[in-house]
Amino acid sequence: MNNVDINFAKKIPVTFDALKCAQKRIDYSGVYAKSLFKSRFGEAVESIESDINVSVSFDFDLERRVVINGKADIEVIVCCQRCNEKFKKTVGVEFHLSPLKDIALADKLPYEYEPVMVNEWGEIDLVNAIEDEFLLSLPMFTKHELDVCHVPELVRTFGEVLPDSDKKNPFAVLSQLKKH
Ligand SMILES: [Zn+2]
Repeated sequence: MNNVDINFAKKIPVTFDALKCAQKRIDYSGVYAKSLFKSRFGEAVESIESDINVSVSFDFDLERRVVINGKADIEVIVCCQRCNEKFKKTVGVEFHLSPLKDIALADKLPYEYEPVMVNEWGEIDLVNAIEDEFLLSLPMFTKHELDVCHVPELVRTFGEVLPDSDKKNPFAVLSQLKKH
């Protein structure tokens, strides 16, 4: 074995026959190329900085339902909505998916599972499912942690309590201050 082999991250399939994988109790860990995520998740962030680390395991739950438990993470650049500076962030998700042939059955799933649709060949698209999880985990407004944000202390403190309608006017904070 040489060093190249040790560092070479394992690629994993995009689609799976979840039932067969559950019967074999298959576990995978590896990476997805970031290019697979660029059309949807890539549009929701400034840029994608890393490939996607994924680990999944296929199994049955106590009710003999096929379940796919896993986690994934990705590094992205997002823009702080408070100070407008771009910064790097790791988005990590944990998921519990259950494959369904008919979306109408989604209502019957226990709440801890997310439905994932099975295509006509009996396969699920794991990239698509993980991309959904990433999109759902993005906050509506990305922001730095307060202690690293670059908005000056005064604006930051007052800016937090101002209603949204004042956001568009950069002088709204000053006019608020003058009233006092
Ligand atoms: Zn900031």
